[in-house]
Amino acid sequence: MADGRVDDTYLKLKAQLLAYRLRPGDRLNETALAQALDVSRTPLREALNRLVSEDLVVFQPGAGFFARGLDARAVFDLYELRLVLECAACALACARASDAALAALAADLEARGLDVAGLTVGEACARDEAFHLGIAKASGNAALEAQLRRVGEQIRYIRWVSLSMGALRHSKDEHRAIMAALVARDAARADAVMRAHVGKRMDEVTGFVRQGISALYMDPDADLSGEVLGVAPGDGRPVAVKEGQT
Ligand SMILES: [Zn+2]
Repeated sequence: MADGRVDDTYLKLKAQLLAYRLRPGDRLNETALAQALDVSRTPLREALNRLVSEDLVVFQPGAGFFARGLDARAVFDLYELRLVLECAACALACARASDAALAALAADLEARGLDVAGLTVGEACARDEAFHLGIAKASGNAALEAQLRRVGEQIRYIRWVSLSMGALRHSKDEHRAIMAALVARDAARADAVMRAHVGKRMDEVTGFVRQGISALYMDPDADLSGEVLGVAPGDGRPVAVKEGQT
């Protein structure tokens, strides 16, 4: 029973953290959280400690638990790690993925991964993540796939912002180029296009993290398409991706 409560509390807290309803850097009020989630302190603490082990929550002795902050340095580090993992996944997939696995990935990309018009940023982002995790899966290395999934969770918010700023326009062609290199088992080319794809995002995100990510934290439910981002208004977060933006 106790484990079930911990699991449930952990999943609810994680969902709130990943959706930035608990804002980066915020102190997590244990009393308020226990009330809101209708659990006692012990399972709440266990759930929080699990999130600490996943780097989504930070514990400061004497001060309590905090939602992990995302400063420019941390974001850069995560993107750099992502780059290493993505390029390794490409190399391994070229070397040992089955033809069937690569064909399935390519078919999936053509069917669902390219045309993102009309999707919300959240949905488009999920498809982007799915494509990248598909490559990691094709690498045959489950540990690598798990690490990439974890990095993906940690940078998801940044990805939303990046995609809503128009990164999707380039993503479509870049994803197609990555897929073509994988199908051709051209490891050098796959590495180059993946490096360019993730590297470009890295430049963008570290730039806007420095400029104004703190402003975005002010209201996690605000429309992501406001002045800060300079893209067309949508109806609440996540903003709808406009036709032609892709
Ligand atoms: Zn991508």
